[in-house]
Amino acid sequence: MTLTAETGTPETDQAPARTTAADSAPRRPSLSPSRAADFKSCPLLYRFRTIDRLPEKKSRAAVRGTLVHAVLEKLYDLPAAERTAAAAQTLVTPAWDELREEPGVAELFGAPEGEQAESLEAWLASAGQLVETYFRLEDPTRIQPHGREELVEVTLPDGLLLRGYVDRLDVAPTGALRVVDYKTGGMPREAFEAKALFQMKFYALVLWRTRGVVAAQLKLLYLKDGDALTYAPDEAELLRFERTLQAIWAAIERAVATGDFRANKSRLCSWCDHQALCPAFGGTPPPFPADAAAAAGWRTTLPLTAATD
Ligand code: SF4
Repeated sequence: MTLTAETGTPETDQAPARTTAADSAPRRPSLSPSRAADFKSCPLLYRFRTIDRLPEKKSRAAVRGTLVHAVLEKLYDLPAAERTAAAAQTLVTPAWDELREEPGVAELFGAPEGEQAESLEAWLASAGQLVETYFRLEDPTRIQPHGREELVEVTLPDGLLLRGYVDRLDVAPTGALRVVDYKTGGMPREAFEAKALFQMKFYALVLWRTRGVVAAQLKLLYLKDGDALTYAPDEAELLRFERTLQAIWAAIERAVATGDFRANKSRLCSWCDHQALCPAFGGTPPPFPADAAAAAGWRTTLPLTAATD
């Protein structure tokens, strides 16, 4: 389906209010696409990230993703006719100047003198290349987003709170929705497409439950390869997906109640910061932080050392 938001009938003045860090703080335990994916791949990793909240190192690849997302978001602040590839490149350095102030970012480029400048330069050039590739996939002068980095959330009838941020949401004058996500990694092989679409179906479910409209298109833009993956969900599929999320959530609640989060070794372990605490690598996890979990609104049957509300 073609959305007229891209084909010459731009909507105006529909950018959402920007969200702040305070806005994004969950009010109670909630499920996001990335945390659901964590639990599916390794329950212990979910625990370390969501309950223990253990710090993790930033990576250059992840920070480059953040930088490219920031540039593409700011690109749409410009008047439509000015959203050129050259204009996008001028946004890279200011976006980096902001990003480098965040904790742990500047340190990524702490190589010995001499190498440092060249390394950073090459890294910024690679970010610029990803931004340039974006223009092979879309013509931003013909798109007027309805939302960018938009928080979408819904509470399902059983109380499960779903929350996530959509990179871009386009709404056609007909009301048709398109959900767009920018990926700075490579396009997944066919076997991994379902995994890639998990996040998009999550957003589609939340939008369906909040707006009553099934998104006409879910679109993943792979900037490394200059390729796109599109998908059109239907209502029956979103209903099934909702049941899948409810099953994941029930498993998470059981794990929190008992403190039993199993390690699940996989090739993802290569990127995990917590191997030293992981039984699969000979480590021992710290005691389950039942007090912190209860304070964050989780139900647990484990004994608490401090009174919580
Ligand atoms: S190292 Fe692997 S098994 Fe252990 S917590 Fe991390 S992802 Fe899970």
